[in-house]
Amino acid sequence: SRGGVSKCPEDDRPLDYAQIYPDEELTTEVMNSLVRCRNVKDGCRWVGKLQILQVHLDECPFDALPCPLRCGAVLPRLDLEDHLEFTCCRRQVVCEFCSKKFPGDVYEKQHSGQCISEVMWCENKCGARLERRFLANHMRNECHKRTVLCQFCSREFVQETLQTHQYQCPRYPVVCPNRCDPTKIPREDLDLHVTELCPSATISCSFRDAGCKHKCPRFSMEKHTAENVQHHLKLMCDLSKTQQTQITQLCNALYSLTHITDGEFIWKISNYKQKFLESAYKSVELVSEPFYTARYGYKMAASVFLNGNGAGEGKYLSVYIKILPGEYDNILEWPFILPISFSIYDQNIDYDLRANITESFVPDPTWKHFQKPVKDTGALGFGYPKFVSHEILKTRDYIKDDSIIIKVKVDSYRNCTSP
Ligand SMILES: [Zn+2]
Ligand SMILES: [Zn+2]
Ligand SMILES: [Zn+2]
Ligand SMILES: [Zn+2]
Ligand SMILES: [Zn+2]
Ligand SMILES: [Zn+2]
Ligand SMILES: [Zn+2]
Repeated sequence: SRGGVSKCPEDDRPLDYAQIYPDEELTTEVMNSLVRCRNVKDGCRWVGKLQILQVHLDECPFDALPCPLRCGAVLPRLDLEDHLEFTCCRRQVVCEFCSKKFPGDVYEKQHSGQCISEVMWCENKCGARLERRFLANHMRNECHKRTVLCQFCSREFVQETLQTHQYQCPRYPVVCPNRCDPTKIPREDLDLHVTELCPSATISCSFRDAGCKHKCPRFSMEKHTAENVQHHLKLMCDLSKTQQTQITQLCNALYSLTHITDGEFIWKISNYKQKFLESAYKSVELVSEPFYTARYGYKMAASVFLNGNGAGEGKYLSVYIKILPGEYDNILEWPFILPISFSIYDQNIDYDLRANITESFVPDPTWKHFQKPVKDTGALGFGYPKFVSHEILKTRDYIKDDSIIIKVKVDSYRNCTSP
């Protein structure tokens, strides 16, 4: 019978035709016995009389058949339709895009995925759909998502952003706002062009700071300069005078600033030997630079007679302090009653071996030297005619490198109370 080997319905084993003999009765009986379809393992659940098994097999969906196109495949009836339509190498395939006919294997190997008429999405994801044959040109020349170079700065951009870029592109050529030249200038060079180079830009005369108010295009400035030499020279002279005044004021201000102390004024008197000799010949008062005792303090000057003065003449060094009219006298307290001390330094290199000589006093409110000064009368200050004797001055290192160093210290109220 067609479609395989018959099996014994009793034990499901293959039948041996040599041992089969016709038996009318038995045949009827056998033909009426119930059997399963031979494709039960593939999933067929048919059960029926042996008599109609062949009828079933002729249409059993699990029964294996050779492909009618003779491609060599054997497959269940169930899959045949699918095979003939989609996978059989001998089937006829009509390309859905170009409508040409192909044998199945030729279609798969040579046409599928290559049909020039296949409609595809642009690979740049621009949203365009076009036939394969137009795709390359689209992506190269038309697609608004293609990569392009800015022709001015040579950087890469997605085509659709190129225009926006060129509103900012530093190399994009723009026209000079002064319309100086028909040639365009790269945007990033425009500032420099206008401020430094543009012949049409209006510029100020280079003597502007001296007071010349003339303005004209750069190209005609040379003419202005040539024609105004006298005028410019006068402006420069005036400027120079003004600046000289300012310099003098600044020097004065600087002088006051550098003579502010924190209450300690140190005065180095150099060329001692020569000055001493001059003092011995005729009494000479050496007066220090004036100094302030604080930023807004009292103004003072110290003075020294190297060969002595008054009771100390010829044997002592005398020191005095004098209060001078100062900038802030109207806001200071008068009379001046802060403690003042004079010291002469022992300039021994070893700090511990030094024996400075110091004298100090607290002004009495009644002393005339410490009332609010009206003007510098040149009168002698208050101090010590016998501050230090010449004998002592020659000892130790009071004189060193032909110099003596004197300190004037003005204690603030706060220091006043400490012992
Ligand atoms: Zn079946
Ligand atoms: Zn086939
Ligand atoms: Zn095609
Ligand atoms: Zn595209
Ligand atoms: Zn650019
Ligand atoms: Zn220009
Ligand atoms: Zn000028």
